Amino acid sequence: MRAECRRASTLLHPDWRHVLSFDREGRLYTFYDDGVLYKRALNGSLHWRRREDGGPRERGTLTRRQAHEVYADVARWAELAAGRLDAECARRITTEILPWTPERLLAEKERFEEIYRPIAILPPDQYLAIVVQATEGCTWNKCSFCSFYQGRPFRAKSAAELREHALAVRAFLGKQLLLRKGVFLADGNALALSRTRLLPMLAALREVFPGREMYSFVDLYSGERHDPADWRELAGLGLRRVYIGMETGLDELLAFLNKPGSAAQLGEFVGELKAAGVAVGLIVMVGVGGRRYARRHAEATIDALAAMPLDAGDLVYLSPFIEDPLSRYAQDRADAGISPMSREEIEEETRRLALAVRAMGVRAARYDIREFIY
Ligand code: SF4
Repeated sequence: MRAECRRASTLLHPDWRHVLSFDREGRLYTFYDDGVLYKRALNGSLHWRRREDGGPRERGTLTRRQAHEVYADVARWAELAAGRLDAECARRITTEILPWTPERLLAEKERFEEIYRPIAILPPDQYLAIVVQATEGCTWNKCSFCSFYQGRPFRAKSAAELREHALAVRAFLGKQLLLRKGVFLADGNALALSRTRLLPMLAALREVFPGREMYSFVDLYSGERHDPADWRELAGLGLRRVYIGMETGLDELLAFLNKPGSAAQLGEFVGELKAAGVAVGLIVMVGVGGRRYARRHAEATIDALAAMPLDAGDLVYLSPFIEDPLSRYAQDRADAGISPMSREEIEEETRRLALAVRAMGVRAARYDIREFIY
């Protein structure tokens, strides 16, 4: 039995087939169990993934009963460790980890739901952010492929309401804040709010989470509501990077997806952001538009990215497209007689695009929305 009692986390290695990690509240964070990796979401649900002998990665969510069994297993490992480790680590297990019974871990669901609406998605480099829901939903909510905020009307919190929410988030995360980094303003279009509404909101977040950098999604049509001076002011208040659902550099395909904007407008917007000192993360959907658009989608996207003033501080996310069979996109695609790309074709295209982006000196990473857990 080995253990690492770090400042921000506790790691237990009972043997080479098992590794457990906990936050400093003592709540399970991850559990590697002989080929299966379990990750606990903040709402107490437990998610697993594994890959068998070079096959595709499998993933899923345990039922409450199954999660209870795994949490009970985790408690047994922790009890075993408490009897075998030095006094400092044993004390940490007894005082922090063991009080989190399976029932108490599962009951985090209720605490989570008192604070948050479901967190639909984050960019991968923000999985360890502190999420605050400055808004709920998305102002547009009409992109044909998107089901993130369906049934959730757009609503913005007041600065006072956001401050209360941020305090509740801080109390809920507790010492898990040691593991987390920046503050992510969710949901869809927090930065769509006017400057006069945003400034007191950011001030409230700086008060509750001092010294933390801030991040958010922004869409072209809502981002354009701010002028360059606004962006400079937001950068001065700690806004470091914004994430933009570019989807494609091909205007015809963007219109097919019912998303406003154009590659030229996006290029101009990115230029303004960069000049204001705000980095960007651009998300491209690989495989959207099926085989009919594949070549033109790839070429126009690379051309559009090449025309932007991107540098090593920016990111291009290549997100293998996953079609929701109930979406308007699925219906439009079928009506237009467009055949979808296969998984293999999409993966191959993702690899090709990543090479092309990296050749521009810009970081490219895969963004699988199924991996997201908060
Ligand atoms: S703007 Fe973004 S969040 Fe809103 S509907 Fe489109 S893809 Fe979804």
